[in-house]
Amino acid sequence: MKTIDKIYINGEFVSPKGTEYFNLISPTTNKQLGKVRLGNTEDTQNAIEAAKNAFKTFSKTTTSERIQYLKNIKIAVEKRKTDFINIMIEEYGGTFQFASVSYEYMLKGFDSAINLLNSYDFIKTMGESEVQMTPIGVVGIIIPWNSSNGFISSKLSTVIVAGCTTVIKPSEMSAQQTQLMMECLHDANLPKGLVNIVNGLGEVVGTEISRNTDIAKVSFTGSTTVGKIIAKEAVDTMKRVTLELGGKSPNIILDDADFSKAIPLAISAAFMNNGQACIAGTRLLIPENKLDETKLIIKEILTSIEVGDPKNHTTAVGPMVSTKQFQRVQDYIQIGINEGAEILAGGLGKPEGLENGNFVKPTVFVNANNQMRIAREEIFGPVLTVITYKTDEEAVEIANDTTYGLQAYVSSASNERAHKIASQINAGRVQINGIGHDPMAPFGGFKQSGIGREFGTIGLEAYLEPKALIQPK
Ligand code: NAD
Repeated sequence: MKTIDKIYINGEFVSPKGTEYFNLISPTTNKQLGKVRLGNTEDTQNAIEAAKNAFKTFSKTTTSERIQYLKNIKIAVEKRKTDFINIMIEEYGGTFQFASVSYEYMLKGFDSAINLLNSYDFIKTMGESEVQMTPIGVVGIIIPWNSSNGFISSKLSTVIVAGCTTVIKPSEMSAQQTQLMMECLHDANLPKGLVNIVNGLGEVVGTEISRNTDIAKVSFTGSTTVGKIIAKEAVDTMKRVTLELGGKSPNIILDDADFSKAIPLAISAAFMNNGQACIAGTRLLIPENKLDETKLIIKEILTSIEVGDPKNHTTAVGPMVSTKQFQRVQDYIQIGINEGAEILAGGLGKPEGLENGNFVKPTVFVNANNQMRIAREEIFGPVLTVITYKTDEEAVEIANDTTYGLQAYVSSASNERAHKIASQINAGRVQINGIGHDPMAPFGGFKQSGIGREFGTIGLEAYLEPKALIQPK
């Protein structure tokens, strides 16, 4: 049993003032892994004070100094590769394959941040004026459990590129992953107070971050429900917000696509990270006359898909993060049944032999339509809804008939046709004939999938305030 009882403030591991604990439970066995001591409002205020003091000097550091700090963090993270992968698997049931890819993305993210620092012009000429892109101040970072260290590393990298400082509140469910990251950041010899991390509950630590006058901006990733609460809290102090929220991403397979490739890809897009991904392609849009072929391919894939211990290198789908999340997915499968959709594969209950963990059967619904709750609401589990369309126009209409707009997928034999469809979809990212990640391309959502963008130049500028120096001639 591990006890995590330190938070990270002003370059030191300190005991929180808060005295309550949160139990860490294995999603694979439901046995207790350990517990984490939760920080409180006072801890959060101390962390904000440290970040505020550090900002006075860190905001004036040079590009080469910031590059050196990013390199130091990368070296520290590289030394702990096995720990990063193992703790991710143990703590939230991410599969070995997913944890390995996430780890590599994290490393690439540091390189992209360094490239950004080397190429970005912090002083521009606009009209006849000089425009200085100045660091915004102390950034509050609030993140979910589903890729905790990936979010810490990408958001912290942008903080450093921009010359800001930060207070980070990870999910209480990822405390072991957070502890590992804190150790790496400590080893990276960063200026004291540049990064502060407070474990704690959203309603306590998150609320203080959203309200505190000394926080200039909140960068939040999480549910749309909590994103709305944070935006409301932030408005009183006119904080800037970047909100990366939920999704119900459409995946349009055009009639000329190679279905033997496009459907397996669609299953990967739907079930990535055990279906617990904001960008999961959870609505599969298929031409009506291709439904039978699609059903055959899906059935074949789902009979052989490996569900089980996330440690096994061949496991494709691991457990849900918690019993609460397991129940949520079960409830949605029941809702789909009640709505009259037909289960093509999977269904209610746990897969045989996996009764101890939070495992669900990867589930695919057919005979569904886009008005059903299983097609409109984010389930956050391996549940895919197949919807048919008659024309390309109708496919685009269905894809855009959603309150979300985070990501979309298009498959076609013709790049030109796929590109034309992609251009008509209202989503922050559209993946064409594959699944990739470009850390220099903006990431974020249309509509209720969020406000603003992370990554690349557009993401960076959300951590900067433009200041125009005008000298009338
Ligand atoms: P969540 O919204 O419940 O929690 C996210 C974070 O917010 C946690 O750290 C939580 O403690 C904190 N929080 C909770 N209540 C708060 C409050 N009142 N004030 C301030 N902070 C508060 O999300 P989750 O269950 O941890 O993660 C799943 C959700 O995250 C899904 O909806 C998913 O789509 C979304 N997500 C979005 C992205 C993206 O980039 N768009 C990426 C991953 C996950």
